[in-house]
Amino acid sequence: MSEDLTQVAKTRTDKFMEGVIWRNPGQPEFHQAVHEVVEWLMPFILANPRYQESKLLERLTEPDRVVSFRVTWEDDAGQVHVNRAWRVQMNNAIGAYKGGLRFHPSVTEGTLKFLAFEQVFKNALTTLPMGGGKGGSNFNPKGRSDREVMRFCQAFMTGLYRFIGANVDVPAGDIGVGGREVSYLFGQYRRLTNQFEGMITGKGLSFGGSPIRTEATGYGTVYFVQNMLAERDIGVEGRTAIVSGSGNVAIYCVEKLLHLGAKVLTVSDSGGYVRVKDGFTEEHLAYLKELKEARRGRLTEMAEKFSDVEHFAGQKPWGETAELVFPCATQNELDGAAACQLVENGAIAVAEGANMPTDLDGIKCFLDSKVMYGPGKAANAGGVAVSGLEQTQNAQRMSWSREEVDKTLRDIMAKIHTQCVTYGHDGNGYVNYVKGANVGGFVKVADAVLACGLM
Ligand code: NDP
Repeated sequence: MSEDLTQVAKTRTDKFMEGVIWRNPGQPEFHQAVHEVVEWLMPFILANPRYQESKLLERLTEPDRVVSFRVTWEDDAGQVHVNRAWRVQMNNAIGAYKGGLRFHPSVTEGTLKFLAFEQVFKNALTTLPMGGGKGGSNFNPKGRSDREVMRFCQAFMTGLYRFIGANVDVPAGDIGVGGREVSYLFGQYRRLTNQFEGMITGKGLSFGGSPIRTEATGYGTVYFVQNMLAERDIGVEGRTAIVSGSGNVAIYCVEKLLHLGAKVLTVSDSGGYVRVKDGFTEEHLAYLKELKEARRGRLTEMAEKFSDVEHFAGQKPWGETAELVFPCATQNELDGAAACQLVENGAIAVAEGANMPTDLDGIKCFLDSKVMYGPGKAANAGGVAVSGLEQTQNAQRMSWSREEVDKTLRDIMAKIHTQCVTYGHDGNGYVNYVKGANVGGFVKVADAVLACGLM
């Protein structure tokens, strides 16, 4: 692109962002997510005027609707609590709204708008017919009993059920919403509607869940890295890796890396990170699963249990030396300084299991250093892809085998990678996956929006 055009694209991006910030005050994460997309889309849009004339960017950054509701519930001591909850239905041009639910005290409408916006592009990349949405509440499940979580989920679904459905909007899990919560939510929906339908994914295997859904996001992120590394004729085996987070995504990212022969050094939670001296073994992984999935414990316990595990309170793992980096905890956990430190320490590939874990400075550092950098909307799309496969199985009233779903997941991650290469190749051997994912996702959604007329 000529220097003139680059300058025009930058000026247009800045002007567009002024409008976004003005229309959405107090939602910095939404501004950040939109900026990251628009920055890479603007040159493409300038080169394809039909998108510009139809105000596609303006339409895609305005949700179809946002449902906001109160959740009133009672704790074990009989005390009444009131939480806020939302469902952001961002865009359904290519399929029913689809995206997870997050229960975390930090959740605001702005958080969910950023996640729903990302979800639109991610879902389009999967090649499955899914629109984008996201929901959740500022409820903190930490320290709550099973009964309290159940009562909260029942109250939450009582507020939400009239706005969702198998052909309307299909939620799933996210931070703070795992198998236990999805089951309570599904149960309450059935009770309220008398319908057994695939209106939520991540269900238990005996009531409509899909094999591999629990593992899908973590496994998919590693499959994506395999595709990235294959571009340079190298593999995962024998490479050192650092993972952040120790929830659903992180655990199955570690598992797949371990099975492929990588040396995984770290995981983290909000209290700090642990380093396993010579890398995770099956024994470390089994303990981590039991600690986090069954007991909902803290990582400090892992350091107490194993003599080769060290805990670093209040720290993130980005100072460690590794070739492969997997941020799998939460948004903006990796800033510019951390990114540059990782590059200096020899990182060759970064794949985001989490949504928007790297801030804009961090992304710039990875791209400037020509590190292979897979943004979340491409790298972690395996979760929603298998959710899409769960919807298909529910509609067919069929259940596929673990092998079948895993193979389809691998195929989908390879197709996502191909789209990133198609739209993100710079012609000199470097793939800008950020540009590739944004343009690839945009084209599919934008063409569908245009075809269906003004709305
Ligand atoms: P979980 O709730 O299972 O785990 C979240 C992990 O991140 C925990 O280890 C948690 O630590 C840590 N964490 C959360 N918030 C913070 C914070 N503010 N600071 C430090 N650590 C934090 O969530 P998931 O594994 O499901 O999700 C992780 C990320 O992956 C999110 O960005 C999510 O949007 C994304 N994602 C998830 C998908 C899925 O299928 N589950 C699909 C695609 C993306 P602690 O327990 O101490 O809070």
